[in-house]
Amino acid sequence: MSDSEQFASDNYSGVCPQAWAAMEQANRMDEPAYGEDSWTQRAADGLRSLFDTDCDVYFVFNGTAANSLALASIGQSFHSVICHELAHIETDECGGPEYASNGAKLLLGEGPDGKLTPASIEHLVTKRTDIHYPKPKALSLTQATEVGTVYTPEELKAIRAVADKHRLNIHMDGARFANAVAALDVHPSEITWKAGVDVLCFSGTKNGLALGEAVVFFNRDLAEDFEWRCKQAGQLASKMRYISAPWCGLLENDVWLANARHANACAARLEKGLAGLPGVSLRYPRQVNGVFVEMPEPVQAALRAKGWRFYNFIGDCARLMCSWSTSEAQVDRFLCDLRELVA
Ligand SMILES: *Cc1c(COP(=O)(O)O)cnc(C)c1O
Repeated sequence: MSDSEQFASDNYSGVCPQAWAAMEQANRMDEPAYGEDSWTQRAADGLRSLFDTDCDVYFVFNGTAANSLALASIGQSFHSVICHELAHIETDECGGPEYASNGAKLLLGEGPDGKLTPASIEHLVTKRTDIHYPKPKALSLTQATEVGTVYTPEELKAIRAVADKHRLNIHMDGARFANAVAALDVHPSEITWKAGVDVLCFSGTKNGLALGEAVVFFNRDLAEDFEWRCKQAGQLASKMRYISAPWCGLLENDVWLANARHANACAARLEKGLAGLPGVSLRYPRQVNGVFVEMPEPVQAALRAKGWRFYNFIGDCARLMCSWSTSEAQVDRFLCDLRELVA
């Protein structure tokens, strides 16, 4: 367990022991390259079994590539993708989706707590239908969202209904998909293909891997030639087993879910400890592994001076993010420091 004093990000964490052990095992002999190895087969089969459906699975290095390439496979350069204004694909991918798709435009929608509403989607699709405007073709949902909230299966189905009406494919940015499954306590299929999601970018990195995201196509027609897209984009790992073996470590015995549950529980412990502290309140409901906290700027500065690292890139509230490697003791130390400061 890490004892570094940070709630900055779940990608500050190290590699979880099970993923590390699988990598060590994969290192014992030579194996075919470019994903032709036994580990990649096992990891892909493991994901098919996890989702209980015959999906197409690809592994890439990071989330920006996963999202950008998945979105590029959904539409043409003259199409558009509807996403929330706070979506990572809009705010944090340096135009990656537009670049990978040769120019598909992101259309920014709204909704409380980082979630797109059916009404906002409907508005964006219907406000322009002329030839001078890029045609909406896809919808991108982040599950869990950038502000630590989740779409319920019912909300996803309501969105799917709008998507069906306007023939939009649904992409899911699952950087924290595991945390959403843990929080909702649902089978992973309930918030993906059973809710009409066409393609999911499932993050291993934020769950406990060194690197590696799975792009999971439930709509297999969209996956046509995807391996060429990955290769051209420089996202085909030649020693693929070093991405896929750690995935096997996460999938076996549902380590991915245990990691997510632990991270969520640490955030819940933080939330509980923050309750009632003077001048301290939550900006968004705490549903997964992040707590978004409003507190006076001098208090934030004093926490930083004590060595605590955290971001405040959304509004100016502090984002406290937990991971598989966060310890309860670390949460308690933070709360202890904060209590002293606001007392
Ligand atoms: C971390 C994250 C990603 C992936 O980011 P990379 O740095 O490209 O791996 C994608 N979406 C969301 C919401 C994220 O938080």
